[in-house]
Parts: sequence; structure tokens; C-alpha cells
Amino acid sequence: MRWCCFLVAAAACAQQYQVFPRVVRQGETLRVTGDAAGARMNGRTIRLFPQSDGPRLGLMPVPALAKPGAYTLEFLDPAGAVLHSAPVTVRDARFPSQNITVSKAVSELKPLPDEAKTVAAVRETVTDLRFWTEPFALPVPGCMTSPFGVRRLYNGKPGGNYHGGIDQRSPAGRPIRATADGTVKLVRMFNLHGGTVGIDHGQGLVSLYLHMSKFALQEGVSVKKGDVIGYVGSTGRSTAPHLHWSLYANGVPVNPLQWVRLKPCSAPAAAKARKR
Ligand SMILES: [Zn+2]
Repeated sequence: MRWCCFLVAAAACAQQYQVFPRVVRQGETLRVTGDAAGARMNGRTIRLFPQSDGPRLGLMPVPALAKPGAYTLEFLDPAGAVLHSAPVTVRDARFPSQNITVSKAVSELKPLPDEAKTVAAVRETVTDLRFWTEPFALPVPGCMTSPFGVRRLYNGKPGGNYHGGIDQRSPAGRPIRATADGTVKLVRMFNLHGGTVGIDHGQGLVSLYLHMSKFALQEGVSVKKGDVIGYVGSTGRSTAPHLHWSLYANGVPVNPLQWVRLKPCSAPAAAKARKR
């Protein structure tokens, strides 16, 4: 009888702490819920925030460059003590490579002196109130020309980085809409990012929209999902009109395809070959 009670208690305890999904690919986000102040995995600690409709929630990003393998996610109390541990498996996302041909003028663009610092500060914003709800809206209706995580080569040379968002094909001048509710933290014309808008969706989730031709609002205003925030362009390091947008979970770029449905403009080469 006592053993039975122990088993029931252990099951209830495990149910109190949830990680979803337990198996992720590089660049995806784990939803961490439970009665804990924070969570830690692979040296990164995030906060869990109170929710109006359930247990506390935090978003643990799995960086695109995280090593595939077995990890342990720890639930923490306010003092940092471990309350519970859960296993997580990170799988190789098998990101492809893509060569981008850019003109001499574009390849020689230099960032504004404060460009990297300003954008980093916005993407690392973590505020207490949650404005985002699902489902997210697509910022423009076009298909996807470049997915998240692609290793970028510029004119055949490795750029040393990966694609931290997704690109959607779109004609210049088309309105760009907020993917979710939030507060506009950044509206600025940069040299590399081009016309940029950053929105804080709350509780560690931020979206950025780049290469805009024109803006539709100012910093500090509140937006609702679907509000027009600016217009598609090809400003900054861009070869043709398109929208690049990125999603950040606690400062780390994560794959937006976990949050929206979006089809690639053309089927991958392997799928095309199979069809022939
Ligand atoms: Zn892009």
C-alpha cells in the first residue's frame, strides 16, 4: 500500500514538470512548464513566467549550432536549486548550404557603428507580460525562398554564419504585418539589416523584420497581430525585394516554422529528382 502511494506521488511529481517536445531538432524551441522559477539546459538558464491559463511557462531555445545528442533540462527554484530533471534529445537538423551572389557594392557594405549592438539588445529583450498567442500570422503571404539554419556562402566564400530567420518572396511595397501582439522596440534604417522593425511579444519572445523599404509605425507603440508595420523592400545586404524575418526565444534565433506554416517556393532538389 505504501509503495503504491509512493508511485502515485512520483507520477504526480513528474506530471508537474513538463518539457515539450522531448526530442527536438537544432534551432527549435522547447516549451517548459511547471511550478519552477526557471530552467537550465547546456549552461543556459531561462525564466518560467506565470500564465493566465495554466502552469508557469518558459521557452528554452536549442541553438542552431547546438551539438546533437542527449541533454538534461533542470527545473530550478528561485534560489537556483534543482527541483526536477528531464532528458531531452537534440537531433541534427541537417541544414543545407546556399550560395548567395552579391554585387561588390553590397558585399562592401559596413554596418552602422551601433548596428550590431542595437539589434542584439532588442533580440535579447525579456519582459514579464505575455502578449503573444497562437496561432501566429505570416508577415507576408509569399512562399519561402530560404529556410532557417542554412549555412550561407557569399560569392562562394563561407560567411561563417547561418541564416537566423526565413526569407519570403514578396514584391516591393507589399505591407508587412506583425506575426503576433506586442510592443514595437525598434524602427530603424541600418546599413546591413536595412529597414528594420523589432517587436517584443513578451516573456522572452521577439520578432525582427528586415530589408523594409518604409515603416508604418514608430518605436514604443503597441501592435496587434496582423497590424501593418512596414513595407517590403531590398534595403541593406539584400539582392532583391524580399522579407527576412526572425524569431528569438530568450535572445537565441529559433526556427519560425515551429510557429507558422509556410511552404518552400520550390521543392528540394532530392524531392524533384524522385518525382522525375
Ligand atoms: Zn534572410
